[in-house]
Amino acid sequence: MDLDMVLTTCPYCACGCGMVLEVMDGKIIRTLPSKTSPTNRGKLCIKGWNVHEFIQHRDRLTKPLIRENGSFREASWGDAFNRAAGELRRIRDTYGPDSIAFLSSARCTNEENYLLQKFARAVIGTNNVDHCARL
Ligand code: SF4
Repeated sequence: MDLDMVLTTCPYCACGCGMVLEVMDGKIIRTLPSKTSPTNRGKLCIKGWNVHEFIQHRDRLTKPLIRENGSFREASWGDAFNRAAGELRRIRDTYGPDSIAFLSSARCTNEENYLLQKFARAVIGTNNVDHCARL
């Protein structure tokens, strides 16, 4: 039996509570609150307590899907990134940077949200950035 404790950040909302995942033989079996996190100080909400359940849910998408001819096919991460980058470049070059908008998620970390707005502004050249937590 191999038991690990992994300190991480809850992905469910922008509060960013610290948590510890208990991992046995490569499978997450329990979520515990981090007592040292200044955000939550040993507490979690009900979503945080159960965060390990969706990670291993059988319906979770674990591979990229590319839509072709009205249906999805599994793709490698390289193919998916190349497709997304190529289409973003094509749309920006054809219609201009403000023809593209980015909508981020409260389920991303602050660092991921920062990177998305940086990508929108510095790479694509648009300020069209919004976030579902504002709704
Ligand atoms: S434990 Fe609850 S409040 Fe904390 S980040 Fe997760 S969802 Fe948000």
